[in-house]
Amino acid sequence: MKVTKELKKKMRELKKKGMNYAEIAKALSLHPSTVEYHLSRRRKKKLIEKVLEYAKRPEYQERHKEYLKQYIKRRLKEDEGFKKKFYRAIERYHEKIRERNSSIKVPDGKMLKCAYCGHTWVPKDGVVSTNCPSCKRLLVKLPEMVDRI
Ligand SMILES: [Zn+2]
Repeated sequence: MKVTKELKKKMRELKKKGMNYAEIAKALSLHPSTVEYHLSRRRKKKLIEKVLEYAKRPEYQERHKEYLKQYIKRRLKEDEGFKKKFYRAIERYHEKIRERNSSIKVPDGKMLKCAYCGHTWVPKDGVVSTNCPSCKRLLVKLPEMVDRI
């Protein structure tokens, strides 16, 4: 017997009225496992939706970042192989940023303003620097080009 949308709706209504799976099955002439399957599936789906909704919240993102930080710290202490891989990945990332930034020319009369600390400077080689000379951060966020003073 095909479980139609109508039938599923009826299952949910009876569940809301306080009936258990066996009672619902009897009322709708279904096998109890069929009822259980459809009702618990819907519950699972709702639960997943709720978790996804929750994961979008900024406070979760913050906590997740903190968790990752702790995880990396622990692995760095415990696992020599992880340590090597981790530092290699950081070097590669650093290199990628260096390549990208050094391909961006800073026009005459302009200087750079760090997106992290607000420090302004004129880059010696005329291209966007890899790190901020003041706060030393890797310039993943590109510095703003402002008029030279
Ligand atoms: Zn800075």
